[in-house]
Parts: sequence; C-alpha cells; structure tokens
Amino acid sequence: MSLLAYDQALEQLLAGARPVKQIETLQSTEAIGRVLAVSQVSRLAVPPLDNSSMDGYALRCADVPMAGTILRVAQRIPAGSIGHTLAAGTAARIFTGAPIPAGADAIVMQELCSLEPHEMNTAESRIIINHVPKPGDWIRRRGEDIQEGTEILCAGARLSAPQLGLAASIGIAMLPVFRRLRVALFSTGNELVMPGEVAPADLPPGTIYNSNRFLLRGLLQHLGCQVTDLGIVPDDLDATRSALRTAAEAHDLILTSGGVSVGEEDHVKPAVQAEGELALWKIAIKPGKPLAFGHVRNQAHEKAAFIGLPGNPVSCFVTFLLLVRPFILKTQGVRAVTSSSMRLRADFDMPQPDARREFLRARRTPTGGLELFHNQSSGVLTSAVWADGLIDNPAGVAIRRGQEVSFLPFSELLY
Ligand code: AMP
Ligand code: MG
Repeated sequence: MSLLAYDQALEQLLAGARPVKQIETLQSTEAIGRVLAVSQVSRLAVPPLDNSSMDGYALRCADVPMAGTILRVAQRIPAGSIGHTLAAGTAARIFTGAPIPAGADAIVMQELCSLEPHEMNTAESRIIINHVPKPGDWIRRRGEDIQEGTEILCAGARLSAPQLGLAASIGIAMLPVFRRLRVALFSTGNELVMPGEVAPADLPPGTIYNSNRFLLRGLLQHLGCQVTDLGIVPDDLDATRSALRTAAEAHDLILTSGGVSVGEEDHVKPAVQAEGELALWKIAIKPGKPLAFGHVRNQAHEKAAFIGLPGNPVSCFVTFLLLVRPFILKTQGVRAVTSSSMRLRADFDMPQPDARREFLRARRTPTGGLELFHNQSSGVLTSAVWADGLIDNPAGVAIRRGQEVSFLPFSELLY
C-alpha cells in the first residue's frame, strides 16, 4: 500500500472526478442546495429607479438653505407609484421604496420635519424642515445593487438562500441546475447490526450497531445527493462483488465503509479489483489512513466511481469531509470545492504530536480560542458531536497553549 500525503490524495481524487453534464431547469423555489449550470446575467438594473430609503419628504436642497424652512407639500408618493416633477419651493410626501420625483435631490426623514401648526386643517399642508439636507441624502440610486448586464451568479455556484433571493430580484423564477448525484451506499462488516432491528438489551455479544450508515447517509444528504442505501454487506468476497454490481447500475458513486484494511476479512479491495479497478492508498493523516479509490463497471460497461472509507466511525467521518466531499462537489459541477480554514488560538497544550498530519476534534471557546476533545481515538464518535470543527495540525508539530492553529469549522465542511 503506497503512503500518500493528503494534498496528493485530494489532487488524484479530484483528477478522477467527472462532473455530471445533464441539466434540468427547476422552479427556483425548488432549487435550494443545487448547483447552477448556467451563469445568470441581469437584464435590468436593481433598483430600477432612484428611490427613497426613508419615510419623509423629497425636496430640492436649494429650497432649504436653513433649518426651519417651510415648504408646501404638493404631492404624495407611496411605494409603487410615480410622482410628477417637483415644482420649485415644494416638497413631496414620500415613503420608503417610492421613486424620487424628477427635480428632487434629497430626502429629509419625517422625524426631522414637523407640520406647520396654522396649516393643519387645510387640504394643502405645509411642512417645516428642521434640518439642512445635502444632495443625495437617503436616496438609493438606480443600479446600486445590480447594473444591467452584470453576471450575478456564476455557473458552478451552489444555490443557497441569498443566491435564490438575488436571482428573484432580477425576475428569475426558473434556474438551470445540474442533476443530482446518485450515490449507492453500503457498510461492510459481519459485526454490524442495524439499529431498530435489534434492541440494545438483545445485542448479541461481539456485535455493534452500524453507525456509519447513518453518518454517511446524513453527510450525503447535506450535499444534496440522491442516496440508495444497500444496507450491510457481510465480510465475504462474493457478497461484496454482488453488492458492487448492484450499486454500479444507475449510480455515479459507490461509497462504502469498512473492509479496506489489509486483513484477511477485508474483501472490498479484491471485490473492486474483480469488478473494476482500484487504487488503495494509505494516506498520511490521522484519523484516516486506508482509503480505496477506483471504479466499478456496470453491465453496459459504464463506470461508477468507487470510494471505500475506513470502518472506524471517526476515520470514516473525517475522510469523508476531507476527501469525499470535494470529490462529490466537483462531480456535481461545483467550482469551489475546497473549504477555507481560519487561524485561532489554542487554549490547550499538545506536547506529543503525531508523525502524520492530524485532524483534531476541537471546538471554539467563548473567548475565541479552541479546546480539544479529551479522547481523539478514531472509534470515539462522541468527539464529532462535541466538536464544531477540526484542527489541521501539521505532522510532528507540537501545540502550545496560546499559539495559533489552523481550524476548519464544520460549517465549512458539512454542507
Ligand atoms: P474495518 O475498517 O472494517 O477494519 O473496521 C474498523 C473498525 O470500525 C472496527 O472496529 C469495526 O467494527 C468498526 N466499524 C466498521 N464498520 C462500522 C460501521 N458501519 N459502524 C460502526 N463501526 C464500524
Ligand atoms: Mg471490517
């Protein structure tokens, strides 16, 4: 088994990712989480007209040389209607979002104006302006958000709520997106029992619940994949080969957990080799290590990508975040597939570093530092729930309290 640095493993995985081509056009209300297939250009300016950002009075600054100036209110412009040219010496009652009438060059907010007492009962009110405005005050300019011809969303963008809102702001109700990725999932291991099928009190000795199934399924769902769950496959070559053949039909990716070490109970490697091609990597990261990558051919001789993750739940989780997620994103047509880290202060000491690059389960403290989960074993899944991210610690580097480390928040890695 060749030993591979994380960056090299990621590079090789990404080089093997073939982005989906098929596009479907969806109502934008159904497009959340999907990947935009065609860049979107605005055919209009937003806002389409200069408009008021306050409830108040539109006026000409030249008419208000000093606080206390009185103007006649000659028109009323609520949002959704258009006023007429402002005559010199007059003001327009105006509301937030209403277009600025021609001739006006500023808005004075209503809190800085008062009605002239003598005029209260007359049809045409007068207003006292208790403030000297400057040209442009409280005016939102045409096109200050989006100008005509601007690309507002690029192909390969993942659509989340702000993207959908922005598309709607230029009148878009339908969006072209890449089709969902179809992922087949199974877990290997004779020791595995499905929660819900056997009660904890009846768990036979030597068995454990299959947690990876739920973990991986959830991770795939966070990324918007269509998951086919093939359940538990026993540690047996024929059973594994048969599961692979089933999975290779109508799926882009086959994802498995367990059985990729080199023990005699690990049948994933020979099974994939028999049904397709495989590279087995020992990646120089902790937790993690063995990862299998290759493809399985279906009856039509099409290839489904194959990734086999280690069985230990934390290894499975971390290798998914670091390697499978970018692979899936690229296959989905996403442009930016890597996540960004931040520098944060370590509020702990770790005098004995690992010889491998280590991804430590940690969480942010209220004072802006990081604390470490007390048990970093690759079998302790509690650490993944307790933590809110991973510290990316270089091989052989000890951590001293107060020093800055590189932190990858789960908010960057899970979705
Ligand atoms: P393996 O990679 O198959 O050698 O498994 C490594 C360790 O992970 C063993 O202790 C397994 O029992 C455990 N393991 C494997 N698959 C799962 C799973 N689906 N859920 C929970 N633990 C697992
Ligand atoms: Mg196993």
